[in-house]
Amino acid sequence: MSYSPKNSGAMLQSTHGIKGNFELAMPCKKKGIAFCWRDNDPIANKFWDAPDILQWGGPYRIGEGKIEGVAMIQGNYGTKGNLELVAVDKNTLVHYWRNDDGDKSWNGPYKIADGVQGVPSLIQAGTGKGCFEVVVGKEKGGGLLHFRRDNNNRPLEWRLTESFGSGDVSGCSLIQLDFGIRSGDLELVAVEGKRLVHYRRPEGINSRWENRTVLGKGFTGAPGFIQADSSGLIGNSRRKVTYEIVVPCISGGLAHFSRKPNVANTSSWVHNEDFGSGSYTAVSLIQSNFGNGNLEVAAVKEDGSADHYWWSADAQPKWNGPVIIPQLKRLRVHIKVLVAPSFSIQEHMDATKELFYKIGISVEYPTIEELDIPELIPLAVSNQEYGSIRNMSEGQKLLYENRNNVSGNDVVVYFVELETIHIDGDNDQSTIGGKATHPIGKPSAVVTKYATIWAMAHELGHLLGISKHNQSDDMLMFESGGSLYTITPLISDDEAKKMLKSRLLEEPKC
Ligand SMILES: [Zn+2]
Repeated sequence: MSYSPKNSGAMLQSTHGIKGNFELAMPCKKKGIAFCWRDNDPIANKFWDAPDILQWGGPYRIGEGKIEGVAMIQGNYGTKGNLELVAVDKNTLVHYWRNDDGDKSWNGPYKIADGVQGVPSLIQAGTGKGCFEVVVGKEKGGGLLHFRRDNNNRPLEWRLTESFGSGDVSGCSLIQLDFGIRSGDLELVAVEGKRLVHYRRPEGINSRWENRTVLGKGFTGAPGFIQADSSGLIGNSRRKVTYEIVVPCISGGLAHFSRKPNVANTSSWVHNEDFGSGSYTAVSLIQSNFGNGNLEVAAVKEDGSADHYWWSADAQPKWNGPVIIPQLKRLRVHIKVLVAPSFSIQEHMDATKELFYKIGISVEYPTIEELDIPELIPLAVSNQEYGSIRNMSEGQKLLYENRNNVSGNDVVVYFVELETIHIDGDNDQSTIGGKATHPIGKPSAVVTKYATIWAMAHELGHLLGISKHNQSDDMLMFESGGSLYTITPLISDDEAKKMLKSRLLEEPKC
């Protein structure tokens, strides 16, 4: 089931993938919510020589509006666990949810309340479907508001359970303890003015938020707050829990506080070493299943971008990063298979995707279709370089009419068997790896059965505007399509720059 709905934040490690993907939501620069994810499973059975990259996908945009802050959990609705999200849109608190068993479409916004501000926090607590607990700043510097939706009783209704605290809250983060005698208690950290403050709320239907403690001054935005397991992964029988806070500093960078629990749960907070630089508006903090249970931070900047830091709990614990969470341009490639290639379609797709990721292009494969046109096997192509519409064979023209599901600037790559042809100025009979000539307005390429693993990427390079072959044989755009198939070819800075300007790419939505 879900990883840990008892910590709030806008990043989580979900049940998707084998290792569990990171899922992250944050305000878009223009409007709506930016949603991205990191695929934490490296490419399976990779035989080419390249370090594993855990690739971020997105950002995709959810909804509209002027979003101030977001909190997201994976709850226990559905089989996989739907994502549940609350956001502050201007001064209105709204709820969205994602159908994680189906097409992962987002539903909402559903209004919870008006009169709020800053970055909200959300957890799912209690038994059964439990309750959604939301704490958020009250507008005009009016302290904090605690809303609850009891998911075990119909009709599902959000209720204000308490208005508490005072001051101008820019963000807060909520947890439910699940350790020791205080299990069930709620705890909250919030940035009020420039102060980082901590509150407790004992378990019980009529209890109140109490024990306001100031941890320090000089902070801004929204903190991240979790209970972490310092003895290894969650589920370890000899648990050593710590409480961890990471919060943006007004002077830039991030501050890290931690606290060890004692029986009465009153031990004091320790301000650890500050880390990072940059002006951040919100922090999401989780404990992942990497290493011994690394701490992972997504730190959001004012311009809608974000940095990733992580803290490894090994022999020499330290904060690593930042790695910029990329804003990728998107290329949609439909695959149509007339003849299955000798490397699998999956291998071609993985190699191409990894190569383009490095230059800031996310290659997506919306559809894979098998074609049954025996008369086009083998396929004759015109061998004039850089040909236009006039230089296509009759076979190519016929093949390129197959454009099921293809729209807008989508590209099609056809896997075929190319006819053996005579290369100009060469006495050998040879087979070219692919061809990117295509009718105007129908960007397409063919890749032959015996092509190297880099042939699709090479032909896509042509479609993205590289018309001249590179003279160096370790380059993707070398005329025979890159180097040895086990060595990842390179893309020059100039080529990358040119490709990134292609009109076939979709700009990031945020
Ligand atoms: Zn070429």
